[in-house]
Amino acid sequence: MPIRATVWGENVHEHKNKEVAANYPIGMHGQIAKLLSEDPNIVASTVTLQDPEHGMTEQKLDETDVLLWWGHAAHKEVDDAIVERVVERVWQGMGLIVLHSGHHSKVFKRLMGTPANLHWREAGERERIWVVNPGHPIAKGLPDYFELENEEMYGEPFSVPEPLETVFVSWFQGGEVFRSGLTYRRGAGNIFYFRPGHETYPTYHDKNVGLVLRNAVNWAFNENRYQNLMKAPNRPVDKAIEPIVERGAKLTRHPK
Ligand code: ZN
Repeated sequence: MPIRATVWGENVHEHKNKEVAANYPIGMHGQIAKLLSEDPNIVASTVTLQDPEHGMTEQKLDETDVLLWWGHAAHKEVDDAIVERVVERVWQGMGLIVLHSGHHSKVFKRLMGTPANLHWREAGERERIWVVNPGHPIAKGLPDYFELENEEMYGEPFSVPEPLETVFVSWFQGGEVFRSGLTYRRGAGNIFYFRPGHETYPTYHDKNVGLVLRNAVNWAFNENRYQNLMKAPNRPVDKAIEPIVERGAKLTRHPK
């Protein structure tokens, strides 16, 4: 069965800025889904902030193996209950790929537990993205480095936890560097943060970016879900794997 990838798009600047609309006539979410669809192993669909429950209904999440999240201008408009619902799905094993300014999304910050701050500059400068983990599945098929002629600069320090793996490091024309491809595991869920993707530039038309996103979906996929991770049950003495005799002080009293 193919991997079911859902692209969550904020879908705000496409309607407010003519450059963004020109870059992405089918919406950024639509273009990202189009890139993913080049992989016969991926079936991509899209939802947006404006959909009921921001498109993140229980049913849609049941039908999502890997979620991709692009947001920028309206992070605060995402309902906290929906954020919690998405985070719980990640803990249970759903894959999550957070794109560009999604670093400040409620979902990402909740999962990281840190501010996820960085430096930035919107000057259309060149970004050189170095593969620093050549054996990693997300870097499969890429050259040693690739360049995006026009991108927004994100500079270190990026206040996220130390990642599980660093796949990419970016250099910018103005001199800054940034860890632009990071993996995490939270609960049973695989998470990948990928830096490029500023809306006023045609980043999601780049062939290497498309390859990274398809690789990332395949990497993040986990067909199993672990709902038991959401519970903290007591295992009583008489259910212990090896027989034991209860002793010492205790906080809990169980009916005999
Ligand atoms: Zn941006």
